[in-house]
Order: sequence, then C-alpha cells, then structure tokens
Amino acid sequence: MESLSISYMKKIKKCLNCDSYTLSDVCDECGGETVVPDPPKFSPEDKYGEYRRRQKKLKGVEDG
Ligand SMILES: [Zn+2]
Repeated sequence: MESLSISYMKKIKKCLNCDSYTLSDVCDECGGETVVPDPPKFSPEDKYGEYRRRQKKLKGVEDG
C-alpha cells in the first residue's frame, strides 16, 4: 500500500496558474503548466537530503 501511495503522489501535479490539482501535465481547469508540488518527505531516495545536509554543514563551519 505504501509504494502505491507514493506512486500516486508522484502523479499528482499542481497548476501554477490556478492551483488546481491534476494528474495531467496540463491543467484540466485552465490549460496552464503543472508541476509536482512537493517530493514525498518520507522517500528513502532523497536526492536533496544530502545536498541540504552539506549546505548545513558548510553553514555551520561559517558560523564557527
Ligand atoms: Zn489551472
């Protein structure tokens, strides 16, 4: 069930124009461009997790 919900979330997109949610690359309501709103935070394959940690570490060094 978990993997099913993840794949479902990946398909959900949000219209940049009218904030409608759709499964299409194009908004059903206004034909505007749609984007995936947020990556699932519970994903084990968080490509940006390492990036964030790296940034935090760099900042920590700066702050001393
Ligand atoms: Zn729209």
